[in-house]
Amino acid sequence: MSDMNEERKAARHKAAMEKQKSRVDARIAEADTDRGVAILLTGNGKGKSSSAFGMVLRALGYGQTVGVVQFIKGEQLSGEEIYLKEQLPQVRFYQMGTGFTWDTQDRSGDIAAAERTWAQAAEMLNDPALDLVVLDELTYMLAFDYLDEATVLSALANRPAHQSVVVTGRGGGAELQALMDTVSEVKDIKHAFNAGIKARRGVDY
Ligand code: ATP
Ligand code: MG
Repeated sequence: MSDMNEERKAARHKAAMEKQKSRVDARIAEADTDRGVAILLTGNGKGKSSSAFGMVLRALGYGQTVGVVQFIKGEQLSGEEIYLKEQLPQVRFYQMGTGFTWDTQDRSGDIAAAERTWAQAAEMLNDPALDLVVLDELTYMLAFDYLDEATVLSALANRPAHQSVVVTGRGGGAELQALMDTVSEVKDIKHAFNAGIKARRGVDY
């Protein structure tokens, strides 16, 4: 009796899988546009920057060329920064670093740092030699109005056709979302930090 049940379950499962496979195969056959993709990783949960660096690893695996710009102040070292600088000199890496204060008292200093950093990003978005460009935490520059949104959107839209770009950071605005091909929102269900667990090397930074 239970053998019969198992057999029936297995047959049903097989049929469902075959149906799903034919649906997926049809979708794969339909996707015939071959170009770089623009990806926005946003939301309040953990996993945006680490996902972007996962794609850096993927691209490097195929010998692709990669550029990374981090729109953050450089006080907190991160594993990715150390590894890129020390072990991956082939990756073009620029970090906003000092000069950025998140300080409304020194808005003009912040804007200067943001613009200096954006100049590096704009150069990468204009460079056909790069297959993948990561603009980590770029959304905050738009949220604070430190960078001109139209300038940023136009540089993203006009990058070389084969180049992919990954933008991370909370928010980002409707126009940016509309421009990007893939938009994923990482939702904060819970985070260890809120249970008093310290940010951890190799996991959080
Ligand atoms: P990660 O770099 O780990 O992928 P992220 O890029 O999604 O995180 P950010 O907002 O850039 O998130 O914040 C980076 C740091 O803040 C990481 O150390 C991360 O663990 C921590 N963090 C991210 N989301 C939360 C959250 N909801 N609550 C507390 N800390 C968070
Ligand atoms: Mg991040």
